[in-house]
Order: sequence, then C-alpha cells, then structure tokens
Amino acid sequence: MSNLFSDNPDLAAQLDIVDLHDVVRLMENDFQANDSDDFVFPAPSSLDDAMEFFAASLDLLGDISSNVIAPHRQNVDREGTQLEDGVVTYAEGTRLAVDALSESGFMGAMLPRAYGGAGVPATIYMMMIELVSRADASMMTLFGYQDVGELIARFGTDEQRQEFLPGLASGEKIGSIVLSEPGAGSDLQAIKVKAFEDENGQWRLNGTKHFISNGCGDVLMVLARSEPKISNIFGLSLFVCPKSDAVKVIRVEDKMGLHGSPTCELFFDDAPVQLVGKRKAGLTSYVLENLAQARFSVAAQALGIAEEAYQRALEYAGDRIQFGTKIIDFPAVRELLDKMSLAITSSRALLYDSIIWLDRKVQISEAIAHGRVAEDDVPAMKARQREAAKYSNLLSPLVKYVITEQAQQVCIDAQQVFGGLGFIRDTGMEQLVRDVRITTIYEGASQVQVSASLKYIMSDTLADLFDASEALPCPDGCDDIRSMIIENRRLYEQYRDTVSAKDSPQLAEAAARDLADIYSQVFGAWAQLRRVNGDAGRRAALRRYVVEAQAFATGRLNALQNGSYDSWLNESDT
Ligand SMILES: Cc1cc2nc3c(=O)[nH]c(=O)nc-3n(C[C@H](O)[C@H](O)[C@H](O)COP(=O)(O)OP(=O)(O)OC[C@H]3O[C@@H](n4cnc5c(N)ncnc54)[C@H](O)[C@@H]3O)c2cc1C
Repeated sequence: MSNLFSDNPDLAAQLDIVDLHDVVRLMENDFQANDSDDFVFPAPSSLDDAMEFFAASLDLLGDISSNVIAPHRQNVDREGTQLEDGVVTYAEGTRLAVDALSESGFMGAMLPRAYGGAGVPATIYMMMIELVSRADASMMTLFGYQDVGELIARFGTDEQRQEFLPGLASGEKIGSIVLSEPGAGSDLQAIKVKAFEDENGQWRLNGTKHFISNGCGDVLMVLARSEPKISNIFGLSLFVCPKSDAVKVIRVEDKMGLHGSPTCELFFDDAPVQLVGKRKAGLTSYVLENLAQARFSVAAQALGIAEEAYQRALEYAGDRIQFGTKIIDFPAVRELLDKMSLAITSSRALLYDSIIWLDRKVQISEAIAHGRVAEDDVPAMKARQREAAKYSNLLSPLVKYVITEQAQQVCIDAQQVFGGLGFIRDTGMEQLVRDVRITTIYEGASQVQVSASLKYIMSDTLADLFDASEALPCPDGCDDIRSMIIENRRLYEQYRDTVSAKDSPQLAEAAARDLADIYSQVFGAWAQLRRVNGDAGRRAALRRYVVEAQAFATGRLNALQNGSYDSWLNESDT
C-alpha cells in the first residue's frame, strides 16, 4: 500500500537531519513532563522515545493521506462546498478526511497533551501539513489551522483553555482565523470590525469580515478594533468567538481553486466574544506571532502540492511514448523534471532548516514563562531566544515567498509534461495548478513577504549562520560547491552594497526581490550541503543549484550596476 511519508525518502530524511534535541527537551522539561492517564498521548521518556513517536505518527499520517484523503481529492474539487440557509456543507470526501484525522488524534497534533493534543513541535507539524496538503491542498485549512488552539493555549486563560481546547484537539470543533476585511487585507491596521463592551461588561463584535477559510467553524479567532479612538495597530485586540446565531455566513466565495475549503463572508451581529490576552495587544503580541508560523504552514502546503505535481509528471513521462521514445528520454523533458526535483528538494531543506528557529524561539519563551528554566540560566536562555527570534523574523516571510513561488512554477511545469492532457480535468493536473495559486497570495502576498524581508537582508541577519557553515568541515567531494556558495555570499554583499550606495528606499524596495532570491539561495545551498551525505545524485543536484544561483546573482548584479532600477531614483534621491 502506498504511503506518502515512507515512500518519500527526502521528507523522511528530514527527521534525521534537523536537530530537534533542544526543542524537545524544552517542551518536555528535560523529560520530567507531567504525564497523566487522562492524556490521549503519553509524554515521551527520552529524545529517542519522542523521535520514535514522531516517525510513527508521520508514517500513520502518510498512510491516511495516501489511502483516505488523496483518493477523494478530485471529487472534493468537483463537489465543493454549499451554503444553504446560512449553513455550510462540506464535500463528502472532506468529512471522511476530518473523521480519519480526528480518530487518529491528528486534529490536535500540535496542541498540549493536557487537553487531548499530541504536543508535537512546529517542525513536525509542518511535515504533517506537507503530507496532508499533498493529498488534498484544501484540507490544509482544516488540518493546518491548529494555531487557533495554539493561540488559546499560549495566550488564553485557564477557563478558555478548558472550554475550547478539548473540542479542537479531538477534531469535534473546527477553528478559524478571522483577520481580513474588504478594506483590510495586507494592511491589517485598517481593520474596522468593532469590539465593544455592553452594559453588562460582555464583549461583542459588530461588522463584516471576508475571505475567511472555514468561517462557518465553531471557534473563531477574531482581530477587531476595541479602541475606536486609536486608528493604528494598538487599537486592535484579539477575541475568541464561539459559533452562535449572531455570527452569520453571508456568502461562500466561488473561487479558482481550493474548492473543498469554504471561503466565507461573515457578519457579526453584536456577537458575544471573549477577550484573549491583553487588550490592545491583539495584532502586535498575538497575531503577528501567529503569522510567523502561518507563513511556514502555507510554504509546507505549497511544497506538498508541488511534490504531488512532480511525482505525477515523473510517472507520466516514463509511460508516454512519442516519436517511438519515452518522453522522459527527451532532454527538454528530462531537464524540466530535474529542475522540478531540485526546486522541491531545495525548498524542503530551506523549510525545515528555517522552521526549527521558530520552534526554538517559541519553546524557549514558553519554558521561561512557565518557570521551567533555572534562574541562573535565564539570561543565557533569553540571549538564545533573541537569536532564534532574529532568524525566524527573516526566515518566515523569506521562505514563504521562495517556496510558494517555486511550487507554482513546479505545478505549471508538471502540467506541461502532460501535454494536452494536462489541460483536461480528468488527469487532475489543472487542479494542482489552480490549488497552488493561492499560496503566493494568502497569509501575506509575495510582494509583502519580500518587503518584510528587506531590512533583515540588508543587515545580513544570517551572517553568523553563514560564518558557522563556512567553518564546518566540507563533505567529501564538495569542495568546489562550498567555494561557490562562499562566492555567492560575496555576490550578495556586492548587491547589497550597491543598493546601499544608491541611497534610495524606493530603489531598495524595487530591488528587494533580487535580494530575497540571492540571499535565500546562499542559505538554501548550505542547508542542502548538510544533506548531501555521500549521495552522488544530491551532490550533482546541489552543484547545479549553486551554479544557477551564481549565474542569477551575477546577472542581477550586472543589471543593478548598469542602472536597471535607476528609474526608481527620484529627484530628491539624486
Ligand atoms: C482562498 C482564500 C482564503 C483566505 N483565508 C483567509 C483566512 O482564513 N483568514 C483571513 O483572515 N484571511 C484569509 N484570506 C485573505 C488573505 O489573507 C488576503 O487576501 C491576503 O492577505 C491579501 O490581501 P488582499 O486580498 O486584500 O490584497 P491587497 O492587500 O489588496 O493586495 C493586492 C496586491 O498589492 C500588493 N501589496 C499590498 N500591500 C503591499 C505592500 N505594502 N508592499 C508591496 N505590495 C503590496 C500585494 O502583494 C498584492 O499583490 C483568504 C483569501 C483567500 C483568497
């Protein structure tokens, strides 16, 4: 029987490569974590025990993804979701998938064990999102929105944890993140939905939100304006809103892809809600923290879709005969497939070497907040937390941008390998192209991600990581690759210095995409070098990656130096 995890050695290998030791130790309080017979999942007794649990969970999820979710993908796409009398109905395949994931405890994979979750780190959760999204991208908004529960677990009260987490962890309740409004998409500062306290001190919401995935869900996390006189980000607070008659689904969007996931317009008619965390800190302390993980989740979703597209194209190219030859033997087709394969393995290395920094940041702050760090160790731990925050602040938008854009190209190339059949619905290739399209848009569009990365790239945020990589012994047979990665870093520095010398914020924004590509390719190359592990195929692929990266960086540097972006220099800049 096929299994999307064990049949994918590159994904399975991430478990051996990414060092989860410190993260798991922190989560499990050095394996002194409280256990209870009431827990659905027992606490691990050691790192090996934890790693075995992660591997077994991923294997089971690979089986469910392959044999329960994936077979319904096309029917879910055709059936879509229906809105009738304010009630949203999901496709049958979606309901079966949620049941299967709930029965095995996956709907609470990253929620605390004390509330019925499995308590896995974000790194493992991303692998899970990759698997589920490969089976059906539209399932990601159901399975991959566990951050609703995570927000309550981290920032809610004990009462809120008791009220909401068990239902979310069991899959009985569906969560939804409710930020966007018609006038507030990328710019959440413009949010207008009003939060007010009535005469009894009950918080209520009034106004319209749109583009809300599973807005028909049971537990809505809503960002709303609690301070009418403060029009900036400090006027926003976070609320948890249980499903009620005062939350109306007005419409479900008719959209290009992700048909299994209802995208809802909601009207809050003085709906009763509870404040989560501190008033006025909704965006700054909670939603921005949540967005860092959400961006990685969308990157994992895009990667899963791209993997499916590539595997389908590879199989087809090996079967299809034209001019008496398998099309895979035409260099033009082979080259396309090689490029797709490289995009996927490089994206995977980038994703899992990045998300680990978010895991470290979150787990250190949780350990300090819950008194699990000895007083003498707190200053050193805080320094490590700041370091991890510095890296994840850059890597979250950067990785989301790079992986989703590449995944989109992989899906188009895979469709191309199918020729005319790629355009025919029955093959399912056009669905993958439609489904992947949203990933460069939601949870922050690519342009916004690039812009958010710019200041961190200009200040060479990853310099210490690059220095550390350069100081490591080089794997056998990779000396030339290592030298090229170091040269590519010099090209980044030249590009950055040229941008700085132009002394124009406008020009820097226009050139930000080049900078994001060049910088991520240096980080991505080191991540892949760690994964070569004596494998000649990986070595050859990485050599191609760094050669291409060098050609790209050199070309863009020439263009910059020759004035490609100089039209951005306005009169006051010159
Ligand atoms: C299928 C789907 C599901 C969704 N699910 C959810 C959900 O569950 N919860 C939720 O809250 N929202 C959700 N959204 C909303 C989504 O997050 C927004 O659509 C997205 O953030 C972009 O906002 P916008 O559509 O208003 O576009 P705009 O903000 O109007 O952007 C339009 C264009 O301008 C560019 N742009 C905007 N600002 C800048 C800038 N500062 N610098 C450079 N370029 C910029 C963007 O990159 C984009 O290309 C969903 C949307 C869709 C389509």
